Amino acid sequence: MERRTFLATLGAATAMAGLPLSAQANPETVRLTLLHTNDTHSRIEPFGPGNGAISGKGGMARRATLVNELRKQLGNVLLLDAGDVFQGTPYFNQYKGALDYQLMSMVGYDAATLGNHDFDNGVDGLVAAMAQAKFPFVNCNFDMKGAPTLAKHVQPWLVKSMPGVKVGITGICVDFKGLVAPKNHEGVVWLDPIEALKPVIKLLREQEKVDMVVLLSHLGHDLKGTALDDLTLAAKLPGIDVIIGGHSHTFLEEPVRIKNAGGETLIFQVGFGGVNLGRMDFTLAKGVVKASSGGTVPVI
Ligand SMILES: [Zn+2]
Repeated sequence: MERRTFLATLGAATAMAGLPLSAQANPETVRLTLLHTNDTHSRIEPFGPGNGAISGKGGMARRATLVNELRKQLGNVLLLDAGDVFQGTPYFNQYKGALDYQLMSMVGYDAATLGNHDFDNGVDGLVAAMAQAKFPFVNCNFDMKGAPTLAKHVQPWLVKSMPGVKVGITGICVDFKGLVAPKNHEGVVWLDPIEALKPVIKLLREQEKVDMVVLLSHLGHDLKGTALDDLTLAAKLPGIDVIIGGHSHTFLEEPVRIKNAGGETLIFQVGFGGVNLGRMDFTLAKGVVKASSGGTVPVI
């Protein structure tokens, strides 16, 4: 979708962002919008001048205003984050992530996953900040038996039930090796994402009977074969409808569609620092995704 088309939808309560007309009038269909961020890195304030294309963009207060407007216009909305909330500005040095989680709670995040930088103050530092979070954290590829205080705050998956649609949400993190010092993830063992995801996807689909599976992935978008990334994961592992990505700070204009044995997986990632909000709109009929579209909403 063109960015200007997308912006135009913001002011119009009846706008149906790129969806086919047939989907708008059909009472049998249900709409769902996913709003998302990744790698916000303690950018509480907008970027100042001298930051090139992102100068003047971002900021938590503006993000809150945008999200509130969209929630008023749209019916079913989920606001999600793909990790690396920590590290990047003096706000993090001062408040150690607690402020970020507090503000994210005020903006109304529904769930978030953890990135490598969220361990920058160790497990204890992360747990201390999490006390300010009024939203759940999801991750399915950490073995946290050795870190019970963290395990208390992180669930392998969750289900969000909204009028006419049930969404399963899980999360995965990139390998700690070379990214997180062993002392900073003491008690947390990293597990292979694909093996960790398989039983979760099966459980969400077969037992929880969700209509959509959404993965918050802190793997990275396209790592050119150096490590598992979202593109490879989507091609290899069927059963995920949407991957909300992070870690590689990739500025995508719209979701990438990957065909696999299960049909199609949408992958989206919106840069870093909260300069953009990602938006994906779905129309479902009888629990099956019939149409989807997406684009970035600049936080200006
Ligand atoms: Zn990052």
